[in-house]
Amino acid sequence: MSTHSVDPRNGESFGPDIADTTVAELAALVAGAANVAGYWRRAPGSKRAQVLRTVAAALDSAAETLVELADRESGLGTPRLTGELARTTFQLRTFADLLDDGEYLEAIVEPMDPSPLPLGHPDLRRMLVGLGPVAVYGASNFPFAFGVLGGDTAAALAAGCPVVAKAHPAHPQTCEAIAVIVHGTLSSLGEPRELFSLVRGFSGGRDLITDPHIKAGAFTGSSTGGRALFDLAAARSEPIPFYGELGSVNPVVVTPGAAGRGQELVTEYLDSLTLGTGQFCTNPGLLIVPSGSGLLELVTVGAKQRAAGVLLHGGVAELLNRNVETLAAIPGVRTLVEPAIFGPGFQATPGILAMAARDAVHHAEFVRTECFGPTGLVVEYDDVDQLWALLEVLEGSLVATVHGTENELLAGELVELLATLAGRIVWNGWPTGVAVNRAQQHGGPSPATTNPLFTSVGTTSIRRFQRPVTYQSVPQQYLPIELRD
Ligand code: NAP
Repeated sequence: MSTHSVDPRNGESFGPDIADTTVAELAALVAGAANVAGYWRRAPGSKRAQVLRTVAAALDSAAETLVELADRESGLGTPRLTGELARTTFQLRTFADLLDDGEYLEAIVEPMDPSPLPLGHPDLRRMLVGLGPVAVYGASNFPFAFGVLGGDTAAALAAGCPVVAKAHPAHPQTCEAIAVIVHGTLSSLGEPRELFSLVRGFSGGRDLITDPHIKAGAFTGSSTGGRALFDLAAARSEPIPFYGELGSVNPVVVTPGAAGRGQELVTEYLDSLTLGTGQFCTNPGLLIVPSGSGLLELVTVGAKQRAAGVLLHGGVAELLNRNVETLAAIPGVRTLVEPAIFGPGFQATPGILAMAARDAVHHAEFVRTECFGPTGLVVEYDDVDQLWALLEVLEGSLVATVHGTENELLAGELVELLATLAGRIVWNGWPTGVAVNRAQQHGGPSPATTNPLFTSVGTTSIRRFQRPVTYQSVPQQYLPIELRD
């Protein structure tokens, strides 16, 4: 089997056929990663930081070629991809800075205390160490920032873990070009190329997570794919942590107090819904508005005026079609703006579906139907009781948003309730756009992720690939250097 690139603007194939990784090749790649795992785990933070910074500089130097290639494979456009590549090199440099200060080791030293128990204790020294080789699976909608050298790879390499990344079939040549850059950098620094490898093909992706040398998996993509790989990771004779960042409907609730923003609010909503042809995991898929506010009517008029955009690949177009049909078939759902998915290539116009909260509470299947594209569901509530009943049927999301005013009791209650459902709460803003920094939480309760305890964006995401070890009464010369006196 092999993969080739397809231009989503016209559906035409281009470039070379890229052969899938064979079973024997995969075993050799993963064994190679395991071979260098001890070296990389023990490597000083300064060395790891140097690798991350040098890779970032090499990506910057190749920016024009990389963006052109990724644009042809994804149709995401040069401005968006230029920004995404800058974000990717920023991520690499941010992790390098983190390594410089050493706090990420969470080192704790409790010197021996000869007092009687329970106060007394031997010399205890605890720190976090890298888990070992990590399998990384990127998503089609972020060829750079959540791709083979995205945030997961940066975090894993920073933690001292070699990475074996699964190339995404929607942008195979971009993955290859990035791997060439990483290997060139590693060889220029005299570091082993086994610190980073690429696996190609669907079976290779499955075999990767079950390989005994792999000690953790990080995935960004669909709920189906993430769940399948999570199950494989859990069913191993040695189960391993698997961090799946999946899709969600990301509810936006508008209070009666905020509904007066009318047209302005609707324009902002449609901007967010259609950004990147709606292909963001943080897309505001579910808008909840007071009935009689006129917002639904404005959304309908506004959506009809929005232009079509390019979808990433045929699979996204098919899935969008299927999920729109699933939503439209739910009793009580009305299609107000029919989305069109058409050629050449894979194009889509915005779609708006609507239902009443009193129907929605009896048909909770809408909650799990992510329309990955520019289609939104608007639910209208008649009163606060209906709103609370509706919120009860919602499930975990990556992000939830409140549009309210500062003197409404309801708005504060919504912030509190939505914080039980999502990893990030947005006030009077929109969920698309995720800043990379220490205070960021990109994750959330299931089904938005397979593990709500961690973030996949921001420097604290490194914690997913670290494991605590306590050294008890161990002589200085045998301690990791960071724990010595
Ligand atoms: P995808 O189809 O799940 O693909 C992601 C990767 O997983 C690909 O390499 C794919 O390879 C592999 N894969 C999928 N199903 C698999 C299975 N059953 N077994 C083994 N490997 C499998 O997702 P996508 O189309 O790239 O991305 C769109 C989705 O990602 C949307 O749902 C979006 O919301 C979500 N997303 C989430 C985040 C986040 O941070 N939470 C960010 C961006 C996107 P093959 O194609 O070879 O199967």
